[in-house]
Amino acid sequence: MPRPAALIDAVAHGDSDDPRLDSLYVDAIRDTIERFEATGSPVITDGEQRKYHNFWTYSVHGLPNTAPDGFKIPFTAGHTRRMPRLTSGPFRYKRYADSYLDVAKRYAHVPIKQAVISPSALSLMYPADGIPGYSREQFIDDLLSEHETEIRRCFQKGAYKVQIDFTEGRLAMKIDPSGHLLNSFIDLNNLALARFSPEDRQRIGVHTCPGGDRDSTHSTDVDYAELLPSLFQLKAGNFYVALAGERDRIQVLRIIRHYMKPDQRVFVGVVAPIDPRIETPEEVRDRVFEAAEYIPIPQLGTTDDCGFSPFSDDISTSRDTAFAKIRARVAGTGLASRILGADQ
Ligand SMILES: [Zn+2]
Repeated sequence: MPRPAALIDAVAHGDSDDPRLDSLYVDAIRDTIERFEATGSPVITDGEQRKYHNFWTYSVHGLPNTAPDGFKIPFTAGHTRRMPRLTSGPFRYKRYADSYLDVAKRYAHVPIKQAVISPSALSLMYPADGIPGYSREQFIDDLLSEHETEIRRCFQKGAYKVQIDFTEGRLAMKIDPSGHLLNSFIDLNNLALARFSPEDRQRIGVHTCPGGDRDSTHSTDVDYAELLPSLFQLKAGNFYVALAGERDRIQVLRIIRHYMKPDQRVFVGVVAPIDPRIETPEEVRDRVFEAAEYIPIPQLGTTDDCGFSPFSDDISTSRDTAFAKIRARVAGTGLASRILGADQ
């Protein structure tokens, strides 16, 4: 969720770990949860208000063994976002996402989904020319162990679902059209997922999207047909798939139907964060009907296409607009559920 203006302003003029920010963070989280619950959404989040700077590097931000000149994500608007580069081992997270649940649980009355970053995204921190005395294999071992720890801690704190953010899946096909990079991402994430029981994996999901920052994307031009067959090889029980912003939703739904497995649920995106127009409940309802022609109803859910402000300083979407879109998502899903006879 877009942060309140006071928080964005305070963060811009200080350090993200400045304790003086604490009360602003807590106010933002409490307000987000109140407004999220008021939409009627059966599952909510804390809006990732405290994931400064973003969803991608929150767990490693501020690590001493990093340099700022790491992997760049180019967006179509012309700007780039950059992640830190690892300079020495061992690799450890600086913070785990369950710390956000500690605060969210104080205010929430409904189940909370917690998003975490994928191992494949963080794998991009390891430099291509290696690190003396700390091999890529050692790094991957440490990375998988930290990711596993983070998810287990989230479940221990009561997360209803854990969502692994995998925005770099589609981007991988843009960087390497041969598919090798995407395959290596899928293999790496499956190594992590294999550490969990089938019951746990039913509560773990994967988010895919073309990226969303300042109303632009990083990989809309990559055809989902290049990504989805591999995506559904991930040993996860839930998939949160950006769909509302796609040019040809029917084609995407056909591919999903072909590749999804019987123990997988698909939450289709029914509102588009980078579209400034607020969808109507009827539009959302019709998108659910459309999806229900391809995805069995017990395996179908709805979601937002992506975060409304995955990078904290992105003010292209207001908080009011974001919540209005979520209200439309919840109301439209309700309209469809009543007609389709599904439980929400
Ligand atoms: Zn996304």
